Amino acid sequence: MNSKPSILLINPPIYDFAAFDFWLQPLGMLAFAGKIADADFKLFDFLNRANPFYDDKPKYKSDNWDRGSFYSEIIPKPDVFKEIPRNFRRFGLPSEFFINFLKTNNPADFVLIQTVMTYWYLGYKEVIDAVKTNWPKSKIILGGPYTMICPNHAKNLGADFLFGDEMPLSTTADNPPLWNLYKNPQTVAMKITQGCPFKCTYCTVPIFNKGFTSKPYEKIIEEFDSIISLGVKNIAFYDDALLYKADEIIKPFLRYVIENKIKVSFHTPNALNARFIDSELAQLLVNAGFKTFYLGFESRADEFQKQTGSKIFDTEFANSVKNLIDADAERNSISAYMILGHPKTEIQNIEDSLRYVNSLGVRTMLADFSPIPKTPDGKLCEKFVDMSEPLMHNKTVFPIIVYGDDQINRIKDMCRILNQKVKGT
Ligand code: SF4
Repeated sequence: MNSKPSILLINPPIYDFAAFDFWLQPLGMLAFAGKIADADFKLFDFLNRANPFYDDKPKYKSDNWDRGSFYSEIIPKPDVFKEIPRNFRRFGLPSEFFINFLKTNNPADFVLIQTVMTYWYLGYKEVIDAVKTNWPKSKIILGGPYTMICPNHAKNLGADFLFGDEMPLSTTADNPPLWNLYKNPQTVAMKITQGCPFKCTYCTVPIFNKGFTSKPYEKIIEEFDSIISLGVKNIAFYDDALLYKADEIIKPFLRYVIENKIKVSFHTPNALNARFIDSELAQLLVNAGFKTFYLGFESRADEFQKQTGSKIFDTEFANSVKNLIDADAERNSISAYMILGHPKTEIQNIEDSLRYVNSLGVRTMLADFSPIPKTPDGKLCEKFVDMSEPLMHNKTVFPIIVYGDDQINRIKDMCRILNQKVKGT
């Protein structure tokens, strides 16, 4: 190998019942690449909807904030899903594009593959198999949440290294995530903090992060400025507790954006902890350019909150909604996330919770529950599904197995009807 390694970064296709580009970006992989000193990088992103492949396919057009559907094909269902009344699909660029890329480029020394959901491993396997066939000497590195949550399963997928293993790569550099590998990126992700002060029983964040830290202010600004210099229009924050310690972390950043009159739209797909949104923070968020507000709520039932981590109670939620609306946030830009299909549904009072959110004049987005190994709630799910098979963590599957398709569809219909009544929708 030359002293300067060549590295191919890959964002794999998704195998699932449903997938949508909700600002889905391979931040972890590009951030890791920024730490690798002196390498030649190439990128193959199966999920890049700016690829010319989409140019003659208007049905995949983005919405105002660059969200949209991925190209997909119906594929045979794995046997474990044969009772699930949904089509199973492969989302992303067709595989022949990737095979052609491998055949027409010199093999890289290393291939780094981003993983996300545990139950998307069929996509990771497709990529590993193609690389091994076409570039047999390349060393494959698998990184991301799947490898942390299911390391034993990931070890058997065919990669040479899992992220965290000792690797023959120097990671002493300190560059921002390598968004410049995309041509004219319109949307990117940022993460300025690590960890969360809460311990919700359905969440992996408290398990894989001991404590809460943030990047130094200067590093946050350096990363942000480098993103803005690329002409980016939308930034999605991937933080788990973006608003915690707001006086020290997010407020100085928001003031920097406002004072420098930087025009960019911010989004919060990972859920904001609404209890931290006081009137000053609400005004700063709106003035700095936050265009969508996804607030973690889950239930208005105190007992459900107490048993699952007490991250927010209904009066705190109502107060934060009021602060956002008083700060001139659009009502239809504010959504409450609510888990659907949680194993403690009987104390969640989901229908009452849906009506409560609607009474505040904002929307609900139902988030199908995914049982995650190592979490307390994942443990509760062992009596329903085989948790050692990552496909069974699928968020479409678990609620249907436990509650039945009719019940799940009834709640989704109710949510849809209530959301239609929200002003501006
Ligand atoms: S507040 Fe959010 S990130 Fe923190 S533990 Fe709860 S669900 Fe996870």
